[in-house]
Amino acid sequence: MSENDELIVIRNAALGKVRASSSSADLDAVETEYLGRKGELTLQLRRIGSLAPETRKDFGQAVNDIKNELAEAIEARRSELTAGESEVALAREAVDVTLPGRFYQTGRSHILVETLNKVKNIFIGLGYEMFEAPEVEEYAYNFQALNYPEDHPAIDEQMSFYINDRNLLRTHTTAYQHRVMKGRKPPMRVCTTGKCYRVDAVDATHGHTFHQVDCFTIDKGITMADLKGTMHQFAVEMFGKDVDVRFRPDFFPFVEPGAEVAVTCTICGGSGCNVCKGTGWLELAGAGMIHPNILEGAGIDSEVYTGFAFGFGIERMPMLMHDIGDLRLFMENDLRFLRQF
Ligand SMILES: [Zn+2]
Repeated sequence: MSENDELIVIRNAALGKVRASSSSADLDAVETEYLGRKGELTLQLRRIGSLAPETRKDFGQAVNDIKNELAEAIEARRSELTAGESEVALAREAVDVTLPGRFYQTGRSHILVETLNKVKNIFIGLGYEMFEAPEVEEYAYNFQALNYPEDHPAIDEQMSFYINDRNLLRTHTTAYQHRVMKGRKPPMRVCTTGKCYRVDAVDATHGHTFHQVDCFTIDKGITMADLKGTMHQFAVEMFGKDVDVRFRPDFFPFVEPGAEVAVTCTICGGSGCNVCKGTGWLELAGAGMIHPNILEGAGIDSEVYTGFAFGFGIERMPMLMHDIGDLRLFMENDLRFLRQF
C-alpha cells in the first residue's frame, strides 16, 4: 500500500467516526485520536523525513488537506449536535399556553358547623354569652341537678354512655346549666352548643351522636312572654321574617311550665306539606320556665328570680331547610353530599 493509499484509509475511518459521533464528548475523542499532539495524522507528518525527497511535498500537502477536511467535518458535526441538543432542551422547557389551568379545590365548613355558627351568632346578637361545657359530664350535673327523678328512663345505663359510676357522655347540652348557675349571681344569659350522646340504634332518623344548643336566662321578672319573644326573634333570624312561633304544653323535668316550640313550616309556609305532615308547623325546641328546684339547688332565690330555658337539636334544621332525608349523611364524610352546601 502506498503512503497515499494509507492516508485515504485513515481519512475514511476518521470521517466515519465523525459521522457516528452522537455527542460533543465523542467528537472530542475523535479530534484527539487524529489531530492531537500524538494523533494519527500528526504522526503521519512526522514521517515526512523518512520519505523520498521528491514525494515529501505532495505527501505533506495531502496530510494537511485531510487534517483540514477532518477539522471542518468535526466542526460541522458539532454544530449539528448542539442544534439538536438545544432543540431537545427547548422542547423540554416549552410551555403550552393552550392547556387548561389546574383546578384547586378549596375546603369549606361542614354544613353542621355552618348551622351551629349561624345559631351561635344569632344568640350572641341577642346578648347571650357562649359557654364551653365538657362532653364527659358528671352524672349529677346531667340528671340530678336538673330535677330528674331517680327512676327516669334516661338515667338507665341502657340509654346513656357511662364512663364510670360518676361520669357519662352528656345526653343533652342542658347538663351545663348547673355548672354555670352555681358559680354566678343573676342576671345571666348563657348559651352552649356541642355534641351529645345517647345509646340509640343508628338509622335514617336516629344517631348515637348529635348536636344541640341550649340557652337560659335568669333575672328578676322574667316570664313566658320573654321566652316567646326570644324564640320568635331567633326563628325570624334563622328562617326569615314570615315565620311564626307556636307554643304547646310539654313536660321536661327541668322546667315548669314546659312547652314544645314549633315554627311555621319552612317548606310550605304553613299551608301543609309532606315534611310538616300537613300541619303547617315544624317542631323546633323544648322550652319552659326554669324549675324553682333548679334555681334553689344552685343557691338562687326562686322567690326573687325567675328564668326561662330552651334547647334544640342542630341536625334537624339543615334537614328541614335542604330536604335531607337521612341523618347518617352528616357523619359519613361523603364529599358528593358535603360539596352541595
Ligand atoms: Zn309544610
